Amino acid sequence: MKHNATNKIQELHNFGEFGGVNPSISDSSTYTFLSAKTMFDTFEGNTEGCYLYSRHSSPSNLYLGEALAALEGTETANVTASGMGAITAVILQLCNSEDHIVSSRTIYGGTYAFMKNFLRKFNINTSFIDITKTELVEKAITPKTKMIFCESISNPLLEVADIRELSKLAKKYNIPLVVDNTFSPLSIAPANLGADIVIHSLTKFINGTSDSVAGAVCGSKEFCLSLKDVHDGAGMLLGSTLDSLRASFVLKNMRTLHIRMKKHSENALFLAQNFEKDGLRVVYPGLKSHPGHHTLKKQMVSEYGYGGIMTIDVGSLENANNLMELMQKKNLGYLAVSLGFYKTLFSAPGTSTSSEIPLEEQKSMGLSDGLIRFSIGLDNDIQRTYNLMKECMQSLHILDPKVATAAV
Ligand SMILES: *Cc1c(COP(=O)(O)O)cnc(C)c1O
Repeated sequence: MKHNATNKIQELHNFGEFGGVNPSISDSSTYTFLSAKTMFDTFEGNTEGCYLYSRHSSPSNLYLGEALAALEGTETANVTASGMGAITAVILQLCNSEDHIVSSRTIYGGTYAFMKNFLRKFNINTSFIDITKTELVEKAITPKTKMIFCESISNPLLEVADIRELSKLAKKYNIPLVVDNTFSPLSIAPANLGADIVIHSLTKFINGTSDSVAGAVCGSKEFCLSLKDVHDGAGMLLGSTLDSLRASFVLKNMRTLHIRMKKHSENALFLAQNFEKDGLRVVYPGLKSHPGHHTLKKQMVSEYGYGGIMTIDVGSLENANNLMELMQKKNLGYLAVSLGFYKTLFSAPGTSTSSEIPLEEQKSMGLSDGLIRFSIGLDNDIQRTYNLMKECMQSLHILDPKVATAAV
């Protein structure tokens, strides 16, 4: 294997100040200079490897950045205070007013709202395209296009982007391909497939404990330094800096990412296969029935599986709401947005995380009212979870109560 991300992450070791097994947490917003000349040089742009002020960089953030660069196989990575902090900084760094973006149409609601509404202030227009149709993506490119944006596995419809194909297109037109890889850390490595910039919301799987909000931009040294530039870097000037304490939490949680991702994937595949057998409309890229199954297989690192996110369509919003409330009551998970927690989380995207997308557009992209998005947890006995979820569905007549619960 060309790039084993978990090995690379595990090879990194930065000891603490007193030989602690974890690096010390930097507890300073500002740093002393030994000479006035060095301070001048630093402000003039020679900032690499220098601590100046913690909005620019801090040791804790650099340790986490190193681990994220190892995860994605990029030269370096910058950490940010949220996933949106990473996305907005990258967009505003790459685009000037009047520029144009080609984006997947099924993306995180916040990213969609930023492109569709906020960027209007700068007359930056976005064409939202079905990213699985490369010929449509190519047609949408104009001389003003400054980035192609997609999620490797999209939120919430789980469309799979063919990153190799998209990167060929991006290179042909000399446009950077930016991939949000939040749904598939380890299982997809977009930079190895040709993406130029990889973004994460660390809030989700990478941190995995639903206690922190954080993000990252993984890319070339040149691009990541440009984001930090004191004169015109969007990362530095928009100011979405991650706090050192949070950075140290996320780094410690990353140590178990490989084990968690395997278990999330194993549990999600089990539930998806069995619910599909029961006749439910299940969307999970690990199922042969999924339109992106083949594309995902071609580009994934198979040991981490098809990921922890699946959706089930239970026909109506009323069914969805009743089922989610009942499953929460039976302690099968929480009715909550977000993903990557040890406990299963479920929400109806149409009325929550994708509510920024107008109703007609939700319909045209296949986002129906009865859709429930599941982030499958780390349940030790997934057969038991399946049986209990199925009982909930049967008691609400979403599944025929006469069918026995006999999956193996
Ligand atoms: C949650 C999420 C984001 C935004 O991340 P925050 O950390 O909440 O700012 C971006 N993209 C995807 C795919 C997400 O799931």
